[in-house]
Amino acid sequence: MSGIDEDSGRKVGWGWRSWAGVVASLLYPEVCEVCGEERATARESYLCVKCRSAPGNLVPVRAPFCDRCGLPYAGEITARFVCSNCAGMDQGFDSARAAVVASRFVLEVVHRYKYGRSTWLEPFLAQLLVDAAGPFLAAGKWDALVPVPLHPVREREREFNQSVRLARRLSASTGIPCRGDLVRRRVATGSQALLDRGQRAKNVAHAFALRRPVRLEGWRVVVVDDVLTTGATTGAVGRVLRRAGVETVVVWTVARGV
Ligand SMILES: [Zn+2]
Ligand SMILES: [Zn+2]
Repeated sequence: MSGIDEDSGRKVGWGWRSWAGVVASLLYPEVCEVCGEERATARESYLCVKCRSAPGNLVPVRAPFCDRCGLPYAGEITARFVCSNCAGMDQGFDSARAAVVASRFVLEVVHRYKYGRSTWLEPFLAQLLVDAAGPFLAAGKWDALVPVPLHPVREREREFNQSVRLARRLSASTGIPCRGDLVRRRVATGSQALLDRGQRAKNVAHAFALRRPVRLEGWRVVVVDDVLTTGATTGAVGRVLRRAGVETVVVWTVARGV
């Protein structure tokens, strides 16, 4: 009997490696987690080629977009501009950027990762972030990556904080220290999904605080989260950091709601 070695593509005998593969494929059938139809392996994070390449599923955030919040603009603009949400407003960060548009596909993957404990989707999401943020961050000097903290109760429910996990992977590839120890979430805010822009901002305005008194004078910090919708949450974290002396707050997320 023989099988195919996943790394080399060569046929191999039934060694422990292929047995492990057989056991894994029984536990996790090699089928796409989103469409449930096409073949997708563990190394593809169980996301098939068809889903990844379908129009509108994975759309990189490209210029033109708002200089401040990164909201893509459909028209033709070559000059730098600020959108109507940001005009005359302090969002709590200097700028926000994202890897891809928060399409239904991306939001489904994020949801399954966060709430369905589909941890194998993490490398896929992290790679989107690393590929987009890596070159941007390499062009500047940064003191820390700060993941958006979860309230301890929420973190116990969910068993992990996706922002911390994504920030750690970004840290591993950029060398910028991941500092999950600076900011804490002191209020377990409910879901923001049904709230409008103003309600969201109010809901999280006092949700965050420094974990302990620190001065971060002149620091340049990157706040990391999975999805940016209105920017209320990341902005609230940004304000806490600024009050501690941080000079520049840039937000990076995997996806951007449009
Ligand atoms: Zn699929
Ligand atoms: Zn904007």
